[in-house]
Amino acid sequence: MWPYDPDDFESMVRPPEGAARDNAWYFVFLGGDILAASEQGAPRPIDHDAMRWLDVETQAEIYLGRFRGRACYAVDASGRAPQGYSAIGLRGWLGRVEAPLFYLAGRAQQLIEWHRDHRFCGRCGGPMRDHAVDRAKECERCGLINYPRLSPSIIVLVHRGEEVLLARNARWPTGMYSTLAGFVEPGESIEQTVHREVHEEVGVRVRNLRYLGSQSWPFPNSLMLGFHAEYASGDINCQEGEIADARWFHHSQLPNVPPATAISRWLIDDFIAARRTERG
Ligand SMILES: [Zn+2]
Repeated sequence: MWPYDPDDFESMVRPPEGAARDNAWYFVFLGGDILAASEQGAPRPIDHDAMRWLDVETQAEIYLGRFRGRACYAVDASGRAPQGYSAIGLRGWLGRVEAPLFYLAGRAQQLIEWHRDHRFCGRCGGPMRDHAVDRAKECERCGLINYPRLSPSIIVLVHRGEEVLLARNARWPTGMYSTLAGFVEPGESIEQTVHREVHEEVGVRVRNLRYLGSQSWPFPNSLMLGFHAEYASGDINCQEGEIADARWFHHSQLPNVPPATAISRWLIDDFIAARRTERG
């Protein structure tokens, strides 16, 4: 499984009555960046003392829940990063902070963007307010309810004996090869998405899907469901405009692949580890 600790984070829509703020953390968003105390190397959220004196204009505050017992808030703000702070995009947190903190920052960013993008109703144009109970927004005029948007997608390592099928996306500038991925379409099961995406992107058929785990990927709001799939039939035929190149690679001779922070790499590493175990 993709590593996580269920006790790290307790999701809550609003703080419990009389909850303390003195050890709270604030993810303060200036445009698309998150404000970080910059005296140390790795970014970290703003603590409560610093927040009280922070010279930014606050537009909204969203309670996230408790991270290891610490109340956490996402704050929509404007202004420039004050002296002693830096504004760092979420990608700048990836790999520089421990994984649970990165996913919490990703949660904060997705909720802030959802808040910014759902101030008015998409059906009647009326103002939206926070739902009384759920993590949702409700139109004051027509009652339409919007929940935070997530985009489920699949990511799959196709394997054939000792080989894996990796592809280079046409939009990637570098020579990196990765597993195949694509978004779930309305009306599809996750498994159907795997079959469709693999066939669309590289023209082969697969069988024996095995689900390994998932990863939140907040760029901007994906939930990636990771699979291994066995090759069944067909020759590689790359989808024009989407896949620049796709090949079979022996697992001992892999090209440049994604870093350890990506589920793609984890799917690859899991396959390699299993082959080594088989050989004893
Ligand atoms: Zn409405």
